[in-house]
Amino acid sequence: MLISIDGERVDPAAATVSVFDRGFLFGDAIYEVCATHQGKLTMLGAHLDRLEASGAAIGIDVASMRAGLEAEIARLIEECPGEGERYVRIMITRGASTDFDLAEAETEPKQIVLVKQLKPWEPRLYEAGIDLLCVSPDQLVARIAPSVKSNNRQANVMAHRFARAQGKDDALFVDTQGNVTEGPSWNMFGVKEGKLWTSPLAGGVLPGITRSTVLKIAAELGIEAEERAVSQEEALASDEWFITSTTRGVMPVASLDGRAAPAGSPGPLTQRISAAWRALADG
Ligand code: PMP
Repeated sequence: MLISIDGERVDPAAATVSVFDRGFLFGDAIYEVCATHQGKLTMLGAHLDRLEASGAAIGIDVASMRAGLEAEIARLIEECPGEGERYVRIMITRGASTDFDLAEAETEPKQIVLVKQLKPWEPRLYEAGIDLLCVSPDQLVARIAPSVKSNNRQANVMAHRFARAQGKDDALFVDTQGNVTEGPSWNMFGVKEGKLWTSPLAGGVLPGITRSTVLKIAAELGIEAEERAVSQEEALASDEWFITSTTRGVMPVASLDGRAAPAGSPGPLTQRISAAWRALADG
């Protein structure tokens, strides 16, 4: 694993942030995760665009850091030892606040880049699919600004822990209107009668880069896709489901709330989308 803080290489064992860091104190920080495919970093531009948008939403100027971050990421990927693909995490905190108050930081934002080997997901998750449980995160800890890739992920953690405690792999968020949105670290898709559905961006989801790639793939394959609000009931009545994220790609869902996917897992449309996504990612 290689880490740099504010452009300086740091030994991972010594890679620490201050207890005064606002990311630690208040979750006042944003981040991105990207990955290589066949050794090449993919979609970096889209990830940095989203980082800029997250920064703009909370008043951190990411645009001025962009060239430096790009150079640092390239350097760390180049120098990171080991086999397989790389996981890249970019973290920006607002800096330190020694008064422990909510006032503006006294220091510049802190920029952290971490590159390590990407731990592959277990093959069984792709072969069999994952089991999801619908969870209303707001009944545990309210979600904050889902469209911002914020370090404040308490609701995501709590919903995931809740689902795991019930013996499921992960949670599918249900919002206060009763619509399913996304998971703690992925976007959700369903299939009904050959048509795809996914929650709209305005419906309280992160604008997933993989989500957007899947929508393009669907258009190219002539598969109809709707970005619209879907109730928990309608989600449960779907034929197949799959989830998307940078590190997972397209992962099938075997069951939702204990109901097995009627079209099987992975279902036929999930298999088509997944194969097309892999072909695209592999270049
Ligand atoms: N939703 C949430 C809440 C996430 O944390 C992630 C992972 N970044 C995603 C969706 C998927 O986004 P992407 O495809 O850009 O990795």
